[in-house]
Amino acid sequence: MSNVRTRFAPSPTGGLHLGGVRTALFSYLYAKKHKGQFVLRIEDTDQNRYVEGAEQYIIDCLTWCGIAPDEGPHVEGGEHHPYRQSERKETYKQYAQQLVDAGHAYYAFDTQEELEAKRAEVKLHNEHGTFQYDSTNRLHLNNSLRLTSDEVAKLINEGVPYVIRIKMPENELITFQDMIRGEISNESSLVDDKVLLKADGMPTYHLAVVVDDYLMKITHAFRGEEWLPSAPVHIKLWEYLGWKNEMPQWAHLPLILKPDGNGKLSKRDGDRLGFPVFAMNWTDPKTNELATGFKELGFLPEAFINLLAMLGWSSGEEKELFSKEELIQLFSMDRVHKGGAKFDFEKAKWFNHEWIKHQSAELLLNDVKAILVKHHVEITSDEALCSIISLVKDRCTLLGDFYTQCVYFYESPKSIEIEAIQPKWNEDKKNFFVKIQSLFNDVSDWNMNEIETCFKHLATEMNIKVGELQLPFRVMLVGGKFGPGVFQIAEMIGKENTIARINTTLNLL
Ligand code: GLU
Repeated sequence: MSNVRTRFAPSPTGGLHLGGVRTALFSYLYAKKHKGQFVLRIEDTDQNRYVEGAEQYIIDCLTWCGIAPDEGPHVEGGEHHPYRQSERKETYKQYAQQLVDAGHAYYAFDTQEELEAKRAEVKLHNEHGTFQYDSTNRLHLNNSLRLTSDEVAKLINEGVPYVIRIKMPENELITFQDMIRGEISNESSLVDDKVLLKADGMPTYHLAVVVDDYLMKITHAFRGEEWLPSAPVHIKLWEYLGWKNEMPQWAHLPLILKPDGNGKLSKRDGDRLGFPVFAMNWTDPKTNELATGFKELGFLPEAFINLLAMLGWSSGEEKELFSKEELIQLFSMDRVHKGGAKFDFEKAKWFNHEWIKHQSAELLLNDVKAILVKHHVEITSDEALCSIISLVKDRCTLLGDFYTQCVYFYESPKSIEIEAIQPKWNEDKKNFFVKIQSLFNDVSDWNMNEIETCFKHLATEMNIKVGELQLPFRVMLVGGKFGPGVFQIAEMIGKENTIARINTTLNLL
């Protein structure tokens, strides 16, 4: 085991977005590539956004994707329990206090109303200006930098609510090396004195993420580029807490973009364009609204992580299909893209189709069986179902397609696409199908070769092109113009069924 430790640190607020899964995936791949550990930490300090069930859901999604964490709230063992930030309150408080004592943070008693008034005042003078709590005004606000220590003690004793804010430096260039973007610098004056500890005693994300990355010995932290603006605050915290040398290396991943237009792919884009953006089904516990996930839509986890890996990383080769093991082997930071990648649902389905083709029938068996059983198809032999899967899997894009592609092996088609036969139907063809029934009846060894020979023999005798007979034959057996070789199908459904289905369709024509 190496000392590489990465983490996925989601907030349990709802469905797990593609972008989140990709962050988890890259963290996982990086850790595994370096024989390190992948940690799950639940960032649930914002009680207003907490959603019941979301934590278990996140764990289920990671497990389904095959990237289960080595440590986390749900894993026994692990040196850093609790992995849920809401259970680490005391720790953050202690570090917040340490920062105040060292003069790097301060108590702020400003009420919401007071801050609102400040914002309004700034707007009044400059319509585009925004109020920022920082070195230019902190000495005029209601905090422990301006008040005397007696005044502060009095306020605290009286139970007046306060927050703890970081004291950001004036005019400092704050620089770090991002694993993807290289050197990134920010002017400290552009960053406000962020709240570290809230009035309810809960830390904000800024304090909690730094404290936990330190205590959990995280060496590499992957997160979406939307978190870049927070980096200067975090860097100062690492420094102020005396941990600068242990700061993890950061990688800010590019956004996954909507297919049309600009900007981050959102749940709304998915709804609008008709594709999922969550890994698995998510039901909002408040509204009961169900958002379909890639899993339930019929994606294989192998395909899902493959397509996510390719959204933001390339192997350097033409090849696009990679198993998880190959991804672990090949993953390298220098081929992670700097720019965002547009999500393309057609391409996503292509990955799934390729993976279904690639997967063995034995590995697909349970999924396909579940789909058929859901439709009340009775499966008696796994072996027979495996043969059927092998025959039809090249024709499936989503797992659900296996229903249409398999059901006719078990049941007579519920409906027959007569329109596909009718235009070219005639007396000769009708006679052919009348005669073939008794000839089929006499075939003693019912296998595709015998069936084909018998079929072609009669066609030649009656002077009808075989090609013109195969289509109606197929429609009779499966109900439409699809499926693998028609003689193969006839062999598999058996003599009686083949004859019965011909007869049924003749009665409809
Ligand atoms: N809790 C943040 C999130 O929800 C974590 C960001 C980070 O990894 O630093 O994505």
